[in-house]
Order: sequence, then C-alpha cells, then structure tokens
Amino acid sequence: MRRHHIAAIPGDGIGQEVIPAGLEVLTALAERQGFALDVETFPWGSDYYRQTGRMMPEDGLETLKPFHAIFFGAVGDAHLPDDLTLWGLRLKICQGFDQYANIRPTRVLPGLTSPLREVAPGDIDWVIVRENSEGEYAGHGGRAHRGHPEEIATETAIFTRAGVTRIMRTAFGIAAKRPRKLLTVVTKSNAQKHGMVFWDEIAAEVAAEFPSVTWEKELVDAMAARMVRRPQSIDTVVATNLHADILSDLAGAVAGSLGVAPTANLDPSRRFPSMFEPIHGSAFDIAGKGVANPVATFWTAAMMLEHLGEPVAAAALITAVEQVCAAGVLTADVGGSANTAAVTAAVVAAIKGANS
Ligand code: NAD
Ligand code: MN
Repeated sequence: MRRHHIAAIPGDGIGQEVIPAGLEVLTALAERQGFALDVETFPWGSDYYRQTGRMMPEDGLETLKPFHAIFFGAVGDAHLPDDLTLWGLRLKICQGFDQYANIRPTRVLPGLTSPLREVAPGDIDWVIVRENSEGEYAGHGGRAHRGHPEEIATETAIFTRAGVTRIMRTAFGIAAKRPRKLLTVVTKSNAQKHGMVFWDEIAAEVAAEFPSVTWEKELVDAMAARMVRRPQSIDTVVATNLHADILSDLAGAVAGSLGVAPTANLDPSRRFPSMFEPIHGSAFDIAGKGVANPVATFWTAAMMLEHLGEPVAAAALITAVEQVCAAGVLTADVGGSANTAAVTAAVVAAIKGANS
C-alpha cells in the first residue's frame, strides 16, 4: 500500500481547528482510495514559544526533513509580535526548505458568491505564482541608532538571477499546462527601476523556452484594478513575494472569502518536503468558536495529495468540497450558518458516498 508521511503543524488560532478538520477529511479519503497516511502532529507555535522560548525546536527542520509533506495551519498570536511568530516558524520552514514557489489557485466555488457584481461561478479561474524565497521578504536590512531622532531602518528587496529565473520557469510551466496558456508577469518596473526591470528582462528570456505561452506585463497597481474590473481576462500570474502576497488576499476576497483560499509552498526540486496551508492567518476574531471555514484547508489538502502522487484522491476531494458548497453547507464568512464540524462532516459524507 502507498504510504505518505505527513507532518501536521496546526500552529495558532484557527489553525488548531482547520488542520484537525483537514486530517479528518484526508483519513476518509485514504480509506476510500486505498493509500495510508502516517501523520505526526507537532505542537509548535505561540503556546510552545511561551513554554520553551522558541516557536519550534532548534533541530525542527531536521525533524521535518524526512516527511513527504507538511500540513500547516497558521501562526500569529494577539500577545506576541507578528514578525517573531512568522519568522520563528512559517518563514523558517519556507526558507529552510527552499520552498521558492508559492502556488495560489483562485476560483469561485459553486454555491459561493463573489462580492463582484458581474462575476458568475466559472468566471474566475486563476493561479497566482508567488516568489517565496527572496524579494521583499528576504529579511535583508537592519536598524541603526535605535530610539534616536536619526534612527534608520532598511528593508532591502533582493532579486537574484537564479531566484527570478526559477520562479519564471515555474510560472511559465504552469501556464503552459493550463487551457488558456496565458501568463501575466506583474512588476512595478516603472518606479522600481533595478529589481523590477530585471524581472521583466528575465521573463522575456524564459518566455523563449515556452513558445506555447502568451505572456504580457502588468504593473501591480493596474493589476489590482484589473482583478476587480476585468477578472475574466486573467489566467496565470507571477509576481514577487510582496506583490503576490497582497494580490492573493485580494484574489481570496474576490472568490468569496479568505476562508476558501489555499496555497502550496513548493520546493519543485523535491530536495525538501513542501508545505501546504490555507492562506489565511490565525483569525483572532473567530478563534476558539468552531466556526472557521475549513474549505481553504481542504483545498490545500487536495494540492498536497496531487503533490504526493494521488491525483484521483485530490480530484475526489475537490468534487466533495464543491458538492458540499453547492448544497449550501457553508460557514458564516461565505453567508451560511454551518460550523466547522458540520462542513467537515458533510465533506466526509460526500467522500464516503462517492462511487469511485
Ligand atoms: P487573518 O487571515 O487571520 O484574518 C483576516 C480576516 O479573515 C478575519 O476577519 C478572519 O476572521 C477572517 N478569516 C480568515 N480565515 C478565515 C476562515 N478560515 N474562516 C472564516 N473567516 C476567516 O489575517 P489577520 O487578521 O491579518 O492576521 C491574524 C494573525 O494571523 C496575525 O498574527 C498574522 O500575522 C497572522 N497571519 C498568519 C498567516 C500564516 O500563518 N500563513 C497568514 C496571514 C496572517
Ligand atoms: Mn499573506
């Protein structure tokens, strides 16, 4: 029997609610589709920090390395600085495992309504490819003269030829496999004349390797407006760490809720395990109430199954989620009244009822 070793890190806030829901659904799928999941859950995050002074153990990456994939909830605590919690766990894993390609699909699922008046289900089908290893989140910079009037802080965006080339290849490769074969390269190369012009140049170089793909350039501010005004004109998008971070929250909102938006942090070379997570954070305002939308986590679980070589199970999970959404079993963020447990139970039932 095929066995997949999964490291689960629920983390903070609603991560503690959606990851168990995701594991429940994955367990039902494994039974149905004839593979085994060995799951080990790690209690890392802000409570762990309060007990140990660290977000994860010093040798945490070594512990995670043998796993086939990491299933991650969220990190962030109302009483701890966000940069400490994020860098202490999530970014440590992304950077430590060189998960340079962050893939963020967006669709309006059946039964969900886009806040955009003119968007019907099926109108939006995007994949945003986010550079995930350098750019504005490289952690390059510093502070000097703290507390003095002449205090200075720098946050330098880092772009390397190797880093930009590999994310362009990933994005063109994804675009080439999609029906429209259309890639929008997002930059701000009018104002940022070094790093962003470099992006445009490398995009043109890599484009020559993918003659089947039509590609275009768009400035990030214009892209934000286009996502709202002409969402049907977009297919695959590639952008820097910061730009794609912002655009993909907009994408999640346009699709109905952050609670349905998934992501995969991939090391396409497969030297290290990749990490799968909902794009949302720990959602202090609803944490502990059992009402978090688990759909983003289910969708990222499907991306994880795809990555693990279980495409049939991945498709079955997406079908089950679509059935449940279409039937109106929805959490409050998407206009329903079901709680996390009810949506999870409905998806498990749909998986068990499927005749495959
Ligand atoms: P957030 O994503 O946690 O919440 C934003 C809003 O969306 C909130 O109103 C929340 O209730 C709602 N929401 C998010 N996910 C939902 C779900 N599954 N179901 C229903 N509603 C949902 O973003 P934030 O408020 O900016 O950040 C809260 C904390 O999470 C901060 O500490 C932040 O640093 C952290 N954060 C972590 C990650 C991550 O771990 N990948 C991502 C974003 C934010
Ligand atoms: Mn974000």
